[in-house]
Amino acid sequence: MKALLSFLKQIAFDIREILFPRMCIVCNKRLQIEEQLVCSGCLTKLPYTFYRGQAENPATRLFYGQISIEHGSAYFYYYTGSNSRKILFALKYHNKPEVGLLFGKMMALDLNTTNFFKDIDALIPVPLAPLREKQRGYNQSEWLARGVAKITGLPIWTDVVERTVENPTQTHLNHLERRRNVEGIFHCTHPEKLKNKHVLVIDDVVTTGSTLASCIRAMQGAQNAKFSILTLAQAASPASLPGHIIPDFDI
Ligand SMILES: [Zn+2]
Repeated sequence: MKALLSFLKQIAFDIREILFPRMCIVCNKRLQIEEQLVCSGCLTKLPYTFYRGQAENPATRLFYGQISIEHGSAYFYYYTGSNSRKILFALKYHNKPEVGLLFGKMMALDLNTTNFFKDIDALIPVPLAPLREKQRGYNQSEWLARGVAKITGLPIWTDVVERTVENPTQTHLNHLERRRNVEGIFHCTHPEKLKNKHVLVIDDVVTTGSTLASCIRAMQGAQNAKFSILTLAQAASPASLPGHIIPDFDI
């Protein structure tokens, strides 16, 4: 019976593959059976940061003078025209929350070989404003957190901090303007839950760190709470990329 069921499942999968072939969200080529969302060729070429949570890295440096964090990491760089940008766009704008789940798992597996998660008590995805979440249908950072939780077993807390308003576009703002733009947009609803806890705040992208810093600042009043950060991507300019990365442009 079991063998028959698995045989039928395979047939159903094959038919679906023929009728609706799965494509790589980066290069748009057909995926192999064992591949999910991104083909292995594109995965190997992503501009990984290789920070792996090391004590000081370009992601943690963004928070100097803004806020005190325990440690932080970002998984890959993104820049205009990069393949990694397509992954972020699929996650944020193309209704593919499963991209968050997959890359959340990959980030966690990469960091699991280090002490990064050692004393973390819970994961807190940076919340969206209610209207934005309703429009998108999901919070992409929460799906990244779900992926991280699958690997680490850590709980996800979505009831500790809320975003009262969505920040308007930050693209054309300088560092100080970005900081002002996001100040006071988060509100901590349950500071008592954070008492003596070390939480990992998860977001999709870090650019200047102002949004994450604002989110953490809202929670900082909690007694003896500690904060670390993890993002899928760190914004970079191609000229500032480290030597191990050869920028990939598709335009
Ligand atoms: Zn591909």
